Amino acid sequence: MSHILIQGGRVIDPAAGTDGVRDVRLRDGVIVEVGENLQPNGATMVGAKGLVVAPGFVDIHVHLREPGQEGKETVASGTRAAALGGVTSVACMPNTIPALDSAAMIQYVLHKAATEGVVRVYPLGCISQERKGEVMADLAALKEAGAVAFTDDGNAVMNALLARRAMINCRTLGVPYIEHAEDEHLIDGGVMHEGRVSLRLGLAGRSAIAEDVIVGRDVMLADETGAHFHVAHISSSRSVEIVRQGRARGVRVTAEVTPHHLALTDEAVGEFDTQMKVNPPVRDDAHRLALIAGLKDGTIDAIATDHAPHGPLDKDVEFNQAASGMIGLETLLPLCLAALVRPGHLTLPGVIRLITVAPARLLNLPGGSLAPGAPADVTVFDELANWTVEAKTLASKSKNTPFLGKTMTGRVVHTFVGGRQVVREGGLT
Ligand SMILES: [Zn+2]
Repeated sequence: MSHILIQGGRVIDPAAGTDGVRDVRLRDGVIVEVGENLQPNGATMVGAKGLVVAPGFVDIHVHLREPGQEGKETVASGTRAAALGGVTSVACMPNTIPALDSAAMIQYVLHKAATEGVVRVYPLGCISQERKGEVMADLAALKEAGAVAFTDDGNAVMNALLARRAMINCRTLGVPYIEHAEDEHLIDGGVMHEGRVSLRLGLAGRSAIAEDVIVGRDVMLADETGAHFHVAHISSSRSVEIVRQGRARGVRVTAEVTPHHLALTDEAVGEFDTQMKVNPPVRDDAHRLALIAGLKDGTIDAIATDHAPHGPLDKDVEFNQAASGMIGLETLLPLCLAALVRPGHLTLPGVIRLITVAPARLLNLPGGSLAPGAPADVTVFDELANWTVEAKTLASKSKNTPFLGKTMTGRVVHTFVGGRQVVREGGLT
């Protein structure tokens, strides 16, 4: 089996409180030891001088689009995009076609992952049958098949009785209930954040209150049921405050935020850039700063990309008609560095914690640390290297990112999954 020694890098393992020059030994798929000046003992050497060595990143909000929309993304292409982004574990969303609402569909994705994927894939199951928000799916059967949490992501569960019953089930099963928190009525046909920019562009606004109402409802339901309620892609300042107050009262509520909500505002919609159309929308700077404050005080637990591939047919159209979502796996690291580390909001170990051990704990996934015995999932990156986002070098089948042509700082150099090198010198092996 494999035996690799990653030598002389700045090892940052927030789970262990490690931040210093160390060597990391990977053997037979697990981390064996982290220490100074380790002996080769016949290992394959990987030099990491001047680079950061971290646990493989864990992204708990990814749309792999398979089955049903393989033209946009597949398990094969999406996991390669993940690897290039330093992401060694993805939780994939169940709003596929058909939706992941049965044990057979969960098994299908896991089979694809095992045969065609290059990183670990953890499917999420639907809360409702066909993701219609009417009849609950068989959550126990889905969990038995391998679903790690439940969500109707893409839409909120609008029926509060269904949400309540699903939370009771999730509590019993010991898994999180995850909500795409946007009230479909309060959205009111909005296509971007409701504010000065939507007024100027004459586009229908999507008010933050649409998110806040569902987050508030679900915090109350989680309080009453004892379930773990997790807010997907939180985007509004009032929602952050509701989560903060809920946690202070002991409610089991957690939240994730996307890099694009941290890095961008509605100003970036500019002249109707459909690549900037996402749900929930990126908002104004007051909301953005509230999200950063939520990360700083621990109200928001983790960063997740909401990697959402769409093709030209969905994006090269009028803004009102365009699909919502942007890809994010391959720009996760540089956006976090730009939005959080370089402005001084968080330290580099602080950010690494938010994309490794913190999300892994949220969904009870293995990985996220370099502890001996942990899976040998390791990401090696250059914090200072510049690179340009180009359609031809992105592994994702879809190229829907507002960052095409932009220069990013922070580049993944090597990615290891279970001790197998899947990215070498910035390219897939
Ligand atoms: Zn969503």
